[in-house]
Amino acid sequence: MMYKDIREQVYEANLALPRQGLINLTFGNASAADRDKGVFAIKPSGVDYDDLTPESMVIVDFEGKIVEGNLRPSSDTPTHRCLLLAFEEIGGVVHTHSTRATAFAQAGKPIPNFGTTHADYFYGEIPVTRKMTPEEISGGYEWETGNVILERFSGLNPLDFPGVLVNRHAPFTWGKTVAKAVEVAVAVECIAHMAWMSMQLNPGLQAIERELLDKHFLRKHGATAYYGQPEE
Ligand SMILES: [Zn+2]
Repeated sequence: MMYKDIREQVYEANLALPRQGLINLTFGNASAADRDKGVFAIKPSGVDYDDLTPESMVIVDFEGKIVEGNLRPSSDTPTHRCLLLAFEEIGGVVHTHSTRATAFAQAGKPIPNFGTTHADYFYGEIPVTRKMTPEEISGGYEWETGNVILERFSGLNPLDFPGVLVNRHAPFTWGKTVAKAVEVAVAVECIAHMAWMSMQLNPGLQAIERELLDKHFLRKHGATAYYGQPEE
């Protein structure tokens, strides 16, 4: 089997999404890049999670051409391709319609950073894009979804902010590996749930203090990180 590594990584990632309670029906997908080979693997479109196999993952190149696979790739493939092209430091992208994060996206609201769970993953609020224009929606919709994300990320480091809410739509997350992107997708749903509850308990609540944000984010990420075990 060609591209075995990314096929297996993407297969595992896609199965993890419903197992983690992030996916209903088939509303979600994951992709993983092999940058040396110039391709990425992505879930096939509209196939039941029970019927997925590593072999059924579709291999696509960075021009959007199918390199290997008999099934059509996910309809969100152009969004994944747009993000994988622009964010060279990432290796995988995940998209879900997880309920609470999607509620923030539909409301057009970023998720404020209220605590250390959030600060362990994001160096500030979880950003939300602007609404898409009628032209963007009727044109290359999925590619333009990637472009509104890139517009929102002008001046933001995608590893400091490993995810976004697309306005009226839902979250996209990413990471150095697709497994990391899955972990962030789980964290985003959890963070959205906690933020929503915190806002109910204290409607005037302000964002986490700078020193606590710095402490939690920087001990896990960046040059001075000391949390967990060093990466290889
Ligand atoms: Zn979607």
